Amino acid sequence: VETPEKPEIKGKSIPGIKNIIAVASGKGGVGKSTTTANLAVTLAKMGFSVGILDADIYGPSMPIMFDVESEKPVSVVVDGKSKMKPIESYEVKILSIGFFTAPSQAVIWRGPMASKALNQMIFDADWGELDFMLIDLPPGTGDIHLSIVQSLPITGAVIVSTPQAVALADAKKGVAMFQSDSINVPVLGIIENMAYFTPEELPENKYYIFGKEGAKNLAEDLEVPFLGEIPIVQSIREAGDYGRPAALQTASPLEKVFEEIARNVV
Ligand code: ADP
Repeated sequence: VETPEKPEIKGKSIPGIKNIIAVASGKGGVGKSTTTANLAVTLAKMGFSVGILDADIYGPSMPIMFDVESEKPVSVVVDGKSKMKPIESYEVKILSIGFFTAPSQAVIWRGPMASKALNQMIFDADWGELDFMLIDLPPGTGDIHLSIVQSLPITGAVIVSTPQAVALADAKKGVAMFQSDSINVPVLGIIENMAYFTPEELPENKYYIFGKEGAKNLAEDLEVPFLGEIPIVQSIREAGDYGRPAALQTASPLEKVFEEIARNVV
């Protein structure tokens, strides 16, 4: 696997934050947020200081995935300035657009509004020192992404896709968006989620429900690194719903899956 060039931080840098990684997907529902949450707790377990900015304005899921749904960030004064304090869960600092909207409320954000809210969550927040800030972007490649991605100093982007053709077509657009002249963010690689399923009663068998190695092949075609594959596992879904990312299960095969991906990202 080719290693990406050491990415250069563009835009305004943020004191104390070493790397900002955008996690994106072309299509919705492919497991972008699940991957972000598991990657974050894995990086934290590896000893890095980690934050998540949940920028998925269409469906912020970090408050549920980290079991902090009812929390509200408070203001603290840092160097004479009032700053938002991220909520901490499983050693990950989190700010989410979901903390500021009622769960039942449908939010329609326009690009500049979303980008203003996100800028505040990045620049007017007390993140402290972070090795990695992961940004869970909304799915797609629209105007809203342009305004988010252009206004933030992103180190690199990770694309999540299932192996299914419709998801891959959109993932390809995602890669093209980051590599376009107007955005120009290095693509750190592609993660294949829902790569296969292994039933408990047939542990030797792998079923390629959404197709085999589609994201891996796409990475090869586009000459971007392939960062690894995540199988379909019931406990990944359950852990997300219960608010405790599956990668926290110690000494489990899942822990290894996410560790391998995390090592490829850092
Ligand atoms: P996205 O952020 O791309 O919209 P989510 O992370 O919300 O997608 O995932 C969509 C659904 O699929 C969720 O219910 C999640 O729990 C489930 N899911 C995601 N990845 C897996 C996986 N590898 N195995 C089982 N369920 C998964």
